Amino acid sequence: MEKTKYLIKERTEKVVLPEKLGFGQIFSDHMFQMDYSPSKGWYSPQILPVDNLMTHPASSFIHYGQTIFEGLKAFKTVKNEIIIFRPETHIERLNNSAKRICMPQVDVKFVLEALTELVRIDSDWIPTKRGESLYIRPFMYGLDPALGVRPSRDYRLVILLSPVGAYYPEGFKPVKILVQDDYVRAVRKGLGECKTAANYAASLLATEEAMKKGFTQVLWLDGVHQKYVEEVGTMNIFINFKDEVVTPKLNGSILPGVTRRSVIQILKEWGMKVTEREISIDEIISEYETGNLLGLFGSGTAAIISSIGWLTYKEKSMTFNNGEPGELDVKLFNELTSIHYGEKEDTHNWIFNVDKKGIEVS
Ligand SMILES: *Cc1c(COP(=O)(O)O)cnc(C)c1O
Repeated sequence: MEKTKYLIKERTEKVVLPEKLGFGQIFSDHMFQMDYSPSKGWYSPQILPVDNLMTHPASSFIHYGQTIFEGLKAFKTVKNEIIIFRPETHIERLNNSAKRICMPQVDVKFVLEALTELVRIDSDWIPTKRGESLYIRPFMYGLDPALGVRPSRDYRLVILLSPVGAYYPEGFKPVKILVQDDYVRAVRKGLGECKTAANYAASLLATEEAMKKGFTQVLWLDGVHQKYVEEVGTMNIFINFKDEVVTPKLNGSILPGVTRRSVIQILKEWGMKVTEREISIDEIISEYETGNLLGLFGSGTAAIISSIGWLTYKEKSMTFNNGEPGELDVKLFNELTSIHYGEKEDTHNWIFNVDKKGIEVS
């Protein structure tokens, strides 16, 4: 692999981040980019100023959706170190997504190094307030300018950085969820386990309709029976019973979340019984009736943990913890964030330290 070329635009002014960052609204100075062709493999890696991407109007990703992405975060710790949460796991998942839609594999070590270099160069863009972070968005798409339906031959990988605000600027608040049975997000053997654009396109209308009815997000049921719980919005879901925490088992239509994996491990270390199995909406309702269901929460890189305060399925409405965040949800949120911000020792090897040494820019 060639060496990465640096086209660095030196700043004349200090980076000033807006008070309200929101999510994915602003971007740092630079991005990483490299191209792929079957004869050359990955070539021409470079870090360059963020700019519009030029693409032929027939580029296959625009027409047939051959595109995948990842989402991970860098944090400034309380010791002012820069860390990235489980980057290798995210890059490995990028490769799994790539496989499913006939895209080439990347070298995990090389992309990790590229990502680290980029974060280092734009480290002034990492916000420092509690809850804030630098969101890292790698994505890959098919470039071939040809309208035939077939896998592209040429690809591009880009890594973009976006400083993001605290997901809960007004404190950890539970959300209102509608169980969706008018639409499905993904079906088994389809693309659900792949972080590809199609799944998000499939989800938009359902979410918009739920929001019009006053809900924050939707809970997705399985695409075959419309019976088993799969995900909540773009998060994995956990169901907290008195004597067991359940999360739907990965069946092909569920995105294998890195936060999900981390939560399962933490809960097991806390001595709790965690089960990955099928769980139906009917079981949730009947356990709610008997008082055996304590609550539900979502997990994902953006929100970390999202407590579900209200859940509506057809005519049935359920309230958890009087609309307050569940005890376990808060505990998990605090545990994960204290690892992110370096307040708690990283006993799992989840933290990747971006060394702060300057880089040689040629
Ligand atoms: C990204 C994503 C998740 C969460 O994955 P994390 O790795 O925890 O961020 C869950 N569901 C969907 C549909 C997603 O796109």
